[in-house]
Amino acid sequence: MSPLLLASRNRGKLREMRRLLPGFTLESLDQHPEVPEVEETGTSFEENAGLKAVAAARASGLWSLGEDSGLEVDALGGAPGVHSARYAGAHGDDEANNQKLVAALSGCRNRGARYVCVLVLANPKGERVATARGLSEGSITETAAGGGGFGYDPYFIPEGKARTNAELSPDEKDAISHRGAALRRLLPILAQHLREA
Ligand code: IMP
Repeated sequence: MSPLLLASRNRGKLREMRRLLPGFTLESLDQHPEVPEVEETGTSFEENAGLKAVAAARASGLWSLGEDSGLEVDALGGAPGVHSARYAGAHGDDEANNQKLVAALSGCRNRGARYVCVLVLANPKGERVATARGLSEGSITETAAGGGGFGYDPYFIPEGKARTNAELSPDEKDAISHRGAALRRLLPILAQHLREA
């Protein structure tokens, strides 16, 4: 089976995607310096995931998976959304992002939110061949709990659970996560193309 390039440098995402795709040979951007940094200029998760997948495939010549994800908070009109990684300014500063989120929801009774994950598969020519979307509904707590997961997980309680994502075991998070849902949808297409390649 040919290898699959995960077009990301986010350690949390890579860890989860590796767990969710056992049996595949997964490479990351850390092993592919020829892939240029992609500016996330899209206004949707679909657009940004596509930009990442196509850039990675064109530069590496490998089947590539672009992933774009984020948190949509109802009381904030869907923010931070596609800006989740840089909500507080600096890209990937989870601590600052969480502080900003807690402040924005201070005194707010409507705590509803969802995680969204969009995956785009590109072939070695850099053509988009498939897209999958996954959701995880839940709510935002006032105080952080748990040491697992990453990003907003210490403040996110998934529907049907009494604990935050950061308190769940890896298996529990994978079973209900937006990333797990999107990957399970894409799995048959992924297996078909990579086996044939
Ligand atoms: P991007 O897809 O690289 O633009 O960044 C996605 C951002 O959304 C991450 O940096 C996190 O802040 C947030 N995010 C996405 N998925 C998760 C998750 O499973 N747990 C916690 N935060 C997440």
